[in-house]
Amino acid sequence: MKNITVLGATGSIGDSTLSVVALHPDKFNIFALSAHTNWQKMQTLCEKFQPKFVVMTDESAAEALSKVVSNNTEVLHGAEALNTIAAHDKTDYVMAAIVGSAGMASSLAGAKAGKRIMLASKESLVLAGDLFMQTVRDNNAELIPVDSEHSAIFQCLQSGKSGLSKIQLTASGGPFLYTPQKKLCAVTPDEACAHPNWSMGQKISTDSATMMNKGLEVIEAHYLFGLPAEKIDVVVHPQSIVHSSVYYADGSTLSQLGNPDMRSVISYALSYPNRIASGVEPLDLTNNPPLEFYAPDLDKFACLRQAFDALKQGGNAMGTLNAANEVAVEHFLNNKISFLDITKVIQHTLDTVQHTDISSLEAIIANDTTARETARAIIKKYA
Ligand code: NAD
Ligand code: MG
Repeated sequence: MKNITVLGATGSIGDSTLSVVALHPDKFNIFALSAHTNWQKMQTLCEKFQPKFVVMTDESAAEALSKVVSNNTEVLHGAEALNTIAAHDKTDYVMAAIVGSAGMASSLAGAKAGKRIMLASKESLVLAGDLFMQTVRDNNAELIPVDSEHSAIFQCLQSGKSGLSKIQLTASGGPFLYTPQKKLCAVTPDEACAHPNWSMGQKISTDSATMMNKGLEVIEAHYLFGLPAEKIDVVVHPQSIVHSSVYYADGSTLSQLGNPDMRSVISYALSYPNRIASGVEPLDLTNNPPLEFYAPDLDKFACLRQAFDALKQGGNAMGTLNAANEVAVEHFLNNKISFLDITKVIQHTLDTVQHTDISSLEAIIANDTTARETARAIIKKYA
C-alpha cells in the first residue's frame, strides 16, 4: 500500500489523480491533500478519502474547513505546511499539481525527502530546473513526469538513450490554431480556455492558446531528459493522439499513443514500472479522424519562440519568462490586457530584467519577485 499526498487536489490534475486512486483502494491510500481556497470541494474530498492531513494554503479557508471535517483529519494552513505533507515520513508518493510557481517549494521539499515526485507542476522545473534535478539525484528521489508529452517520451525511453537523435513534443495547437493572426487581438478568456482536446485549469488552458505551454514543456523536457534545445523539436498535431516521439540514429521513431486523458499519464506515474487500469477507453485506430502533423508557426505563436530563446540564454531567463507569463496570463484572464499583450509583456519583461546566472533557491525566488514586479509595472503602462 502506497501513501499518496496530492498537492493541488481540487484542480483538474487533482480530480484525475483521485479518480485513478479510487479505482485501486488495494494499492493506494490518500494520506494528505492540499488546496488553496476551495474548502467546500475539499470537504467533499475529505468525506470520500479520509486523509490524515489537509493543507489549505489560505488561512480563512482552513478555518472554515476545520469546523466541518471529522477529527481524523488534521487541517493545516499556509504554504509552509505544503512542505510538511510533501516531506512527511509517511508520504510515499507526491502528486505535485499546484499551478504556477506556487508549487515549486513543495515539489522541491518532496524531492529533498527522497519521495517519488509525480510532477505535473512544470513551472517548478522552468524556475529551478538545475536545483530540482540536483536535489532529486542527491536524495535518490524518483521523478516521474505527469505531462502527456513527457510521459510519452519517458515511456519511449524505457529501453535507454543509446542512439537517440532527438525528441519531439507534440502540440495540439490550442483553440486558435486555425484563427487568423489578425483576429487574435480580440479573443476572450473564455475562447482561450476552450481547449479542443483537453480539459484543464484556466492558466494552462491559456498557455495552450498562446503555445507558451509548449514552450514551458520544451524547458521541462530539457531538464527531465538532459537534452540541449537543439535536440528538442515541436510538431503541431491537432488530434492529440500521438503524445510525443523519440527519434534514433538508425531511422527509427518511437511514439506513444492514446486518447487525450490525463488519467493514463497519472496511472503510469502511480504504477511505474508496472501498468494498472486508469479508466481511460482504449484507442480504436480504425475509428479515428486522420492524424495530421504541421510545423509550428513561430510568428503567430511567439511565446514558443520566446521560451526556446530563454532556454538557449539560460541563467535567470527561464524564471523571468515564467514569472512574466504568470502575471500576464492572470491579467488577461481578468480582462485587463488583450491576448496579444501576453507575448508583449513577456518580451518587455525579458528585456528589462537583468540577465544573470543563478543557482541558489534564494536567488531564484528573488528573481521571480523582481520579474513579477517588472511585469506588473509594464502592464500598468498598457492599461
Ligand atoms: P487547476 O487550476 O485546475 O488546479 C490548480 C490547483 O492548485 C488547485 O488545487 C488549487 O487549489 C491549487 N492552487 C492554486 N493556487 C495556489 C497557491 N497559490 N498555493 C497553493 N495551491 C494553489 O490546474 P491544473 O490544470 O490541475 O494544473 C496543475 C498543474 O499541472 C499546472 O502546473 C499545469 O501546467 C500542470 N498540468 C496540467 C495538465 C492538465 O491536463 N490539467 C496537464 C499537464 C500538466
Ligand atoms: Mg502537456
